[in-house]
Amino acid sequence: MSHEWNIRPRGRSCTACSTPFADGQECVSALFEAANGYDRSDLCLPCWERRTDGGTPFSLWQGVFTAPGEARAKAEPLHRETAETLLRRLVALEDPANLNVVYVLAVMLERKRILVERDTKPHEGGGILRIYEHRPTGDTFIVLDPQLKLDEVGEVQRQVIELLSPGGFAGAGSAAPAAQPAPEVARGRPDFDLLLRGGQVVDGTGAPARPADVGIRYGRIVALGTIPAEATCETRLDVAGCLVTPGFIDTHSHSDAYLVVEPDAPSKIRQGVTTEVVGQCGCSAAPLLGAARHASDWFAHLQAAGLEDATADNFPWRSMAAYRHHLAANGHAPNVVALVGHNLLRAGVMGYAGRAATDDETREMARRLEQALDEGASGFSTGLIYVPGRFSAPEEIQALARAAAARKGIYATHMRSEGDRIEEALAEVLGIARTTGVRVQISHLKTAGKANWGKLEGVLGQINAARAAGCEVHADRYPYCVSATSLDSRLPGWAQADGNAAILARLRDPRSAARVVRELSAGTTPDSWEQVIIGGTTAPELARFRGATLAAIAREWRCTPPEAFVKFLVADQLHTDAFFASMSEENLRRIYSEPWVMVGSDASIRATTGPLSQDFPHPRTYGTFARFLRMALDGALSFGIEEAVRRLTLLPAQAFGLEGRGQLVEGAWADLAVLDPAALRETSTFADPHHYAEGFRCTLVNGQIAFNGRESQQRPGQWLVGRG
Ligand SMILES: [Zn+2]
Ligand SMILES: [Zn+2]
Repeated sequence: MSHEWNIRPRGRSCTACSTPFADGQECVSALFEAANGYDRSDLCLPCWERRTDGGTPFSLWQGVFTAPGEARAKAEPLHRETAETLLRRLVALEDPANLNVVYVLAVMLERKRILVERDTKPHEGGGILRIYEHRPTGDTFIVLDPQLKLDEVGEVQRQVIELLSPGGFAGAGSAAPAAQPAPEVARGRPDFDLLLRGGQVVDGTGAPARPADVGIRYGRIVALGTIPAEATCETRLDVAGCLVTPGFIDTHSHSDAYLVVEPDAPSKIRQGVTTEVVGQCGCSAAPLLGAARHASDWFAHLQAAGLEDATADNFPWRSMAAYRHHLAANGHAPNVVALVGHNLLRAGVMGYAGRAATDDETREMARRLEQALDEGASGFSTGLIYVPGRFSAPEEIQALARAAAARKGIYATHMRSEGDRIEEALAEVLGIARTTGVRVQISHLKTAGKANWGKLEGVLGQINAARAAGCEVHADRYPYCVSATSLDSRLPGWAQADGNAAILARLRDPRSAARVVRELSAGTTPDSWEQVIIGGTTAPELARFRGATLAAIAREWRCTPPEAFVKFLVADQLHTDAFFASMSEENLRRIYSEPWVMVGSDASIRATTGPLSQDFPHPRTYGTFARFLRMALDGALSFGIEEAVRRLTLLPAQAFGLEGRGQLVEGAWADLAVLDPAALRETSTFADPHHYAEGFRCTLVNGQIAFNGRESQQRPGQWLVGRG
């Protein structure tokens, strides 16, 4: 069937070197635009990595070759027409009249996990091209999603039922053997897959809440308003007394590899989060080339849980395509939008060298960024206080921003300074936005340190001026005034040199310890130690101090806070994490008062059981969305619940270029959060963080239940590609 333009069977051997694929061998499949449709290449990994032809594939994914024979035989029609055989026949006919039926069939098969969506592309003539791979055989189907409206869906369903009925396809002009209906169709499908009755809809645009039922079919919202009582549905959810909103977009997430560890993403899904934007602060899961390493915390959890070779067993990917494939094969509850971490790109090209990049090195970084964007990344991020990103010159970032802008990707940045030099750091970012035209997301916007609180108006003024001049600049912020990092970061610079053994020796030596205490006493006020809160500790006898301030510990130990600080670090061998209340509550509200500020948790997935339940995370991990909405409901922000929901939904969907998301409207993807405003609250605290937020009743992702009192383990999340 290889002559039809929109079915592309997988090759049995590598297109480049002609070596036959072995059963279970990984290969990369790519579609290239050709004169009369698409050419498909299937390459073994060595050929893929050596590929130098430079052509940009129309679509690209990594898969596993399955030996034909059994699998293909199963896929052939026997005596019964199924959705699968019908799809193959209709696709082969290439009749535009069948477009809608073909699409509905493809969605049915995707829901049955027979097809998996590998890519989406806007279609020039309208609609979206969806590239599906047939799991049993690896065949590719290119299907036009005509973005059906509710009244059209009903008609198409009738056609599908007719075609699947005995003799149905013959009636459509084929010599097919008499077919039996698929059981579900023969019964007659209900009007909706899911029906949410009796809720108050807050639609994401900022419009006032209004009573409305929500009908869902094939993953999308197909009815909104008063739905007649006689309407039928597969699953009905009574949501009286609840708000029904678009699912929340966590615009700043570090869940990258955690999505593999806990694909049900409990701490996020249980707060109504349906999409996570990962790969932030310069740190992503891919591409992992050269000297680049995964962030150490990603496998520390697995090692703590007793897994032997945590990285090799669980994080085997290297390219963005392979990461994407790994996630798809594993399944994940929330949708994923991935950015490329600059620190990984840089380390992959030039290791962790503390110098500026050469022109050649910068070009190579840009080339690898382009490849990752072609493989489905939505932009790139920097973490310019971290190694090795901090060694980059602005020109290096500018070159990468230019590459991202050319592919309509976004640039998210943890700036070079968020305190003493924030104005200069911001000027660099805004200059890059101006000269390259890249869309910019400023991560966790703040002016850290009391001495810098007064800089906020100037900072907001700089951003507003850039926006007024036409730059697309947005920001995110977590709704807390406390940051989290290691306790020893508070040591004077000289005391931090030469690694942990040297630092500990200094703190144990009475003379140098006295110098640390002297300098800290001179540089801090006694009540500033009320703002330093102990987080994670490793020494068992110190565990009882988790959540306590250093000031309180000093009182108990009958010493000064700087003395308690030194004693604590020595007793815990420098392994202590701490929280620092370095931000202003008033500034937090002022930042949120700007209409271009959204919410990002700056947190990765946690769960109250299993490998991600053992550490001591910031409460923002479990509470960001509950807390932000609670603030709006309680009048602590300059706006109410409708605008708060817009900040979590439509605003980020627009900023990240996520089509069909962020708004509760007919035709949109059914990513939904259902919450009870009266019960909404966070329960995670610094002292006792592993508790889920309350008041969230149900979370739907792509029209499927991900959470409804507990995780459904459906894992309906998709990989999304944002383009502005
Ligand atoms: Zn950051
Ligand atoms: Zn971050």
